Amino acid sequence: MSECTHDCSSCSQNCGERQQPQSFLEAPHPTTHVGKVIGVVSGKGGVGKSMVTSLLAVLANRAGYRSAVLDADITGPSIPKAFGLHVNAEGTEDGILPVVTPSGIKTMSINLLMENETDPVVWRGPVIAGAVKQFWTDVLWGDVDYMFVDMPPGTGDVPLTVFQSLPLDGIVIVTSPQELVSMIVAKAVKMAEMMNVPVLGIVENMSYFECPDCGKRHAIYGESKLDDIAAAHNIPLVARMPIDPKLAELADDGEIENVYGEWLDAFAAELMK
Ligand code: ADP
Repeated sequence: MSECTHDCSSCSQNCGERQQPQSFLEAPHPTTHVGKVIGVVSGKGGVGKSMVTSLLAVLANRAGYRSAVLDADITGPSIPKAFGLHVNAEGTEDGILPVVTPSGIKTMSINLLMENETDPVVWRGPVIAGAVKQFWTDVLWGDVDYMFVDMPPGTGDVPLTVFQSLPLDGIVIVTSPQELVSMIVAKAVKMAEMMNVPVLGIVENMSYFECPDCGKRHAIYGESKLDDIAAAHNIPLVARMPIDPKLAELADDGEIENVYGEWLDAFAAELMK
């Protein structure tokens, strides 16, 4: 046995001095009680991660659960816009109050704290990661059954902070057919494995376009390869969402709560069992 360096992370011996791996989990405000925390991840921006996050929160809310969205995508925050929220969050001595959507979903996003919602966030990684942590620790979320976290794309500093600081119960991977899907899925799955967080399913967004005249489906970005990839990783492919201009329009107009499509219904019901 080599001499002990007291660095348990680089040693596999199971000696009496061995220390438990350090937990970076942050405690929320004492008045916050969240049932399940579900992260929504993607390999790159623009694939519909915020769309899926918002729709899952809407479905949970419609099913009678208290739902919330934590927008951890600090440099590309699109949650307030999708819900038509153009106000500033208010604070009390105890913390920041979430902004509540017309149907009652609690949200927090950097855009709800900026003086001007078109101002860019030009911050370094650790500052961004700190803001995400504060959305968990300093927001007075109250009682929430399902919190959906719109994670920043990729596997960088900020997603890592979310994985380490928030008690994620699982993640949902959102992809689109034009991505390098197999690599993106493999990376997301490996990251989740390293963090001991289960992958609940993959959603393929912008999967096809259905012709409004003849009903024929067209694979605009090419045929999907996701069935094989999902099977290879033993993860369910839980939904395929079409490219739907109406969906984009409603999200752009802040009317995401008025989207009625069946694409995510089965998955949402499964999540909320
Ligand atoms: P991400 O969070 O991955 O960056 P968004 O959810 O913000 O992506 O979506 C990017 C853009 O694509 C938005 O304008 C959104 O309204 C639009 N969009 C997303 N999904 C669809 C879809 N299935 N059909 C049409 N437009 C979509």
